Amino acid sequence: AEEALHHAQKIEALGTLAGGIAHDFNNILLAITGNTRLAIQELPSDHPVQNGLAEIAKASARATDLVNRILTFSRQSECRREILQLQPAVEEAIKLLRATLPALIEINCNFAQGLPPVRADATQIHQVIVNLVTNAAYAIGDGKAGCITLSLDEAHVAQGGAPQLKAGRYVRLSVADTGSGMDRATLDRAFDPFFTTKPVGRGTGLGLSVVDGIMRNHEGSVIVSSEPGRGTTFRLYFPAVEPAAEARPAPQEAAVQQAK
Ligand code: ADP
Repeated sequence: AEEALHHAQKIEALGTLAGGIAHDFNNILLAITGNTRLAIQELPSDHPVQNGLAEIAKASARATDLVNRILTFSRQSECRREILQLQPAVEEAIKLLRATLPALIEINCNFAQGLPPVRADATQIHQVIVNLVTNAAYAIGDGKAGCITLSLDEAHVAQGGAPQLKAGRYVRLSVADTGSGMDRATLDRAFDPFFTTKPVGRGTGLGLSVVDGIMRNHEGSVIVSSEPGRGTTFRLYFPAVEPAAEARPAPQEAAVQQAK
């Protein structure tokens, strides 16, 4: 089951990566196909380069088709946010993860009651928790006892209180472990795509960059603190949905509803 989980994490990361590359490629292809078409039109039809131009047009049409198929695949991981409570989403993810983790690892939950809802994509929340808990279990180590604690509470961020967060009210999801912790050098690079300290085959170095990307999708942020030998805590900040905003749909949701 751990293998399957690891595989799912890789596929998700690949989708995000491929989508980004495909998007950039699409723009490049547009320049190629557009200018080729222009050259075909502008040059006399018996011009010696017409054959070559036709070949370019054919090849770039095939490339466009391929890129569109990749984009369709990666759009499955597009962010679809709705107003929800984080607690049931967290509980569901834990239920699934519990079965895949060694019995020596204890999972604790610490959920504050009466928290405001957030605007979130349940699938992406699931992905974030899987990535963080998988890393936490690895940091505790094979055959070792340890503890992973998931907490939900409310946080008020003051103006200038945290550089990457706007002032306001947040629901905070924390994932803390009693694992190996990270030294300064690892901490500095932990979120870099493809950065990993794990042996070949165990790590892609994409887990945390996916977490970071998802938190950006949610207009939130992830903050990490770690102490070598003691453990690591990831804190995810989701902007709280205020009661007034909850009453009416967000602009993009409203547009979707109209289109239906
Ligand atoms: P991967 O898990 O494939 O290595 P990640 O982006 O998820 O990729 O993590 C990058 C690196 O950050 C890990 O290799 C590890 O060194 C460090 N790291 C992540 N989470 C933890 C944690 N909970 N405890 C200690 N180190 C961690």
